[in-house]
Amino acid sequence: MAPPAAPLPLVESQADAAHVPELVVISGKGGTGKTSVVGSFAALADNLVLADCDVDAADLHLVLAPEIRERNLFVGGHEARVREADCTACRVCREVCRFDAIGCDPDTGICTVDPIACEGCGVCVEQCPEQAIDFPARTCGEWFVSSTASGPMVHARLGIAAENSGKLVTLVRREAKRIAATSGRAGILVDGPPGVGCPVIAALSGATRVLVVTEPTVSGEHDLERVLQLVKHFGIPAAVCVNRWDIHPEGTARIEDRAREHGVTLFAKIRYDTAVTSAQVQGRPVVELGGPAADDIRELWERVEAWWDGGEPPPTQPEVRK
Ligand code: SF4
Ligand code: SF4
Repeated sequence: MAPPAAPLPLVESQADAAHVPELVVISGKGGTGKTSVVGSFAALADNLVLADCDVDAADLHLVLAPEIRERNLFVGGHEARVREADCTACRVCREVCRFDAIGCDPDTGICTVDPIACEGCGVCVEQCPEQAIDFPARTCGEWFVSSTASGPMVHARLGIAAENSGKLVTLVRREAKRIAATSGRAGILVDGPPGVGCPVIAALSGATRVLVVTEPTVSGEHDLERVLQLVKHFGIPAAVCVNRWDIHPEGTARIEDRAREHGVTLFAKIRYDTAVTSAQVQGRPVVELGGPAADDIRELWERVEAWWDGGEPPPTQPEVRK
């Protein structure tokens, strides 16, 4: 028997891309101010590639105003399509579809597929006795390579009700790493997806460092716990920052305790500041406007910058200004 084939060597750019430092910023839930933090990091850093991996509800582009240089279709999975001319109205497809994605005309019996409900499993395609169902690849969205004032940016837009967001997240990260490796950029900064599902797992696997942006609310505390467990599972060094910490100092104290229990350093407490909303309205990073939150984010970035490409986290909790 022939020996197993040796793995193909990585081409140079792939090998380089595998070693690109990668900071992923996540939040566990939406609305914590994560994108405001990432947008400000992008403005403060000067040698990174930006990756917006919140592909279901991307909004980093609202802060960084990217100019699209390259536009690509994202193809993920397949969808069933009945060829009416070949359909004999036997209804077998409707019986076997466990997603109720197939409807039949009450008069003719001819079947059609609801593209939103179709999960692309292919069972109807296999079972149709007339081979009357096509199964083309499904275009699920688009991804872009853009230029911004803060450097190159890779971002995407998933179609309405489209699946495979984890796959699209992986694609965006991979492309951002490739650009970093081939253009001499120091690393990539990832605006991660919310939650703890497939897209977040796709954003975290293989990351160098994770920063969790949370807030002192009941849901913020709850989601922080889930996110820290996920990060621990992957064994990725992590840090936490609390946004709008002063709206609920007791909740912030509980978050500090929770982070400590997980062995995670609290990097910063960002004060509540109306300048953040003004920055959002103007589509600018808050550090460009200045103010208490901008000052806190600048200090946060200094800590992150010293740590995320391999350094140790600061051993003590940050000073808190009131
Ligand atoms: S199984 Fe095929 S032939 Fe039968 S109703 Fe469905 S599409 Fe038409
Ligand atoms: S591919 Fe699967 S989900 Fe889609 S219509 Fe056919 S059986 Fe239903």
